[in-house]
Amino acid sequence: MSHEVPSRPAIAQLPELVKNQIAAGEVIERPASVVKELVENALDAGASRIHLDLEEGGVALIRIVDDGCGIPPAEIPLAFASHATSKLSDVADLDHIATLGFRGEALASIASVARCRMFSRVRGTPLGASVEIEGGRLGEIRESGGPEGTRIEVRDLFFNTPARRRFLKATATELGRCLDIVQRLALAQPGVGFVVTHDGRRAFEVEPAMDLRARVRRTFGAELADALAPVEARDGDTVLSGFVAPPRFARNDTTRQMWFLNGRPLRDKILARVLKDAYRGFIVDGRQSVAFLSLSMDPAKVDVNVHPAKAEVRFRDERRMFGFLVASLRGAVSTLDMATPGERMIDSAARRDGPAPLARQFTLPAPAWQLPPEPRPRELPVFVRESAPVEATPASGAAASSASSEPAAAPRPTPVRGPLLQVGRTYILVANDDGFEIVDQHALHERLTLEDLKAELARGAVEVQRRLVPELVEVGGAAAELVEPHLESLARIGLLLARFGSGTIAVHGVPARFRRSDPSALVHEVIAAVERTGAAPGAEDLLEEILHRTACRSSVMAGDELSELEMRALLARARDESNSQTCAHGRPTRVRFTLADLEKAFYRR
Ligand code: ADP
Ligand code: MG
Repeated sequence: MSHEVPSRPAIAQLPELVKNQIAAGEVIERPASVVKELVENALDAGASRIHLDLEEGGVALIRIVDDGCGIPPAEIPLAFASHATSKLSDVADLDHIATLGFRGEALASIASVARCRMFSRVRGTPLGASVEIEGGRLGEIRESGGPEGTRIEVRDLFFNTPARRRFLKATATELGRCLDIVQRLALAQPGVGFVVTHDGRRAFEVEPAMDLRARVRRTFGAELADALAPVEARDGDTVLSGFVAPPRFARNDTTRQMWFLNGRPLRDKILARVLKDAYRGFIVDGRQSVAFLSLSMDPAKVDVNVHPAKAEVRFRDERRMFGFLVASLRGAVSTLDMATPGERMIDSAARRDGPAPLARQFTLPAPAWQLPPEPRPRELPVFVRESAPVEATPASGAAASSASSEPAAAPRPTPVRGPLLQVGRTYILVANDDGFEIVDQHALHERLTLEDLKAELARGAVEVQRRLVPELVEVGGAAAELVEPHLESLARIGLLLARFGSGTIAVHGVPARFRRSDPSALVHEVIAAVERTGAAPGAEDLLEEILHRTACRSSVMAGDELSELEMRALLARARDESNSQTCAHGRPTRVRFTLADLEKAFYRR
């Protein structure tokens, strides 16, 4: 029986390029992995500024420029050779690695799957060298001029391995991953400046001097950065520093739990467990805290040589480390402000309701209810007389004594039920069936006054208080010139002014509402309004402007103490005014908290 040996290929050593491409398969998955390797190299070279240009999510181009130590021309071929590194020479060195790289594979891998170019000049030497390498083939090393440091260009990633190229995602996705890598490294390495551009536009930037909190602000926004509580703890030569975030920033994933070990970003199960323990009882189940924590320790006490891409570590004395970290973090977490600020509820309410949603609920068809007339018991403009409760004052009674009031048919204001509370002499707290509102008393009254003034103006029924002796206000010739053309329009809103000599304005009468304002201030406001609305403002613009100022002047201010009766009268008028959701300047007059907001804030739902 003959035994036929099937034909088989002979065993052979793989060509260098194929070896490197296989190695690249492990560490170079996408543009972000190239970015990671190149930025880590720049950091290992002691760079203080790293500039990164990306095109098409890094697939078309990744260019990195650093101001690090540089590579001597003679070593450039080695930099691109596999298993060639300046960071490790002995297996014993593996026990105390202080650099981000040490395997000597990255540049060889990258050069095997892309078209690369490098220029490098060692610090303090007069000339550098450049080289091109494509598909693993190293070109000629040429002496050339250029700045100290290293510039590497990686073009057309995976041009010779189309199968890999097909796995790449949309440009925005690849760019997002590149930025994520850079941002993590930028958070890990305060002291180093980063600039990233994408297709010529600046995508991220931190200056070297920015500290960790400033970097968190730049990366994730001020709301988070401002809420962070600092952590500082030490156990022997192990130092923990950084920030923990209040529980309300918790997320569904651990992507904002950032740990840095001696400047190296880490993602590790043990560290996730540390945070879980530190936040126990402060965070609802299933949610993940947010923290930015930096560990600095003797490299000999930790093994980072676990996996090239996974960023895991193994602590030599894991138990002690765990206890130290949990205890220090718990201390910091307990100092955090755990309350849910109304601001966030407002945000969520705004998102839920969409823009300008509140007016709908207040469009009751009713004409403005008029202020009761004098006497005013004190300096501030009140809404009711102390002696006459608003419910007992028929609107027609008010009308009888006010030239500008609605006829007797005007309905009475809707009474406001429930207790009211004035807070800080500025805000009125009103409970309603579905939560409560906080009303800005000035903003609301200003709006109501403005609407009244407009109504009076429209009816030609502005009540004027005439002066027996005109008040003379010195304004100067130029200002008097400016006001003169508008005297007629101003008279329509109850401002009776006249030119008196070259630089003086005589005030003959003011709107009856202007009880508090002194004529001189008023005239200067008119001048300012004319100046602001342009050289030749339309009468309407000017009136509008002055009405706004007038409304402001004749309204209760923040800081005015209001009686319960006054608060009730103010709110009752607001009920009947459809425009009362913002003040005359567009600021909201009220903030509404629904029961749903409260439930959310207290995690009841
Ligand atoms: P590793 O970083 O693991 O040593 P790399 O392939 O990433 O391996 O780099 C090989 C060598 O090239 C490094 O050890 C370093 O000496 C040199 N090198 C790479 N990039 C830079 C750089 N930006 N500045 C200075 N030297 C660099
Ligand atoms: Mg490296």
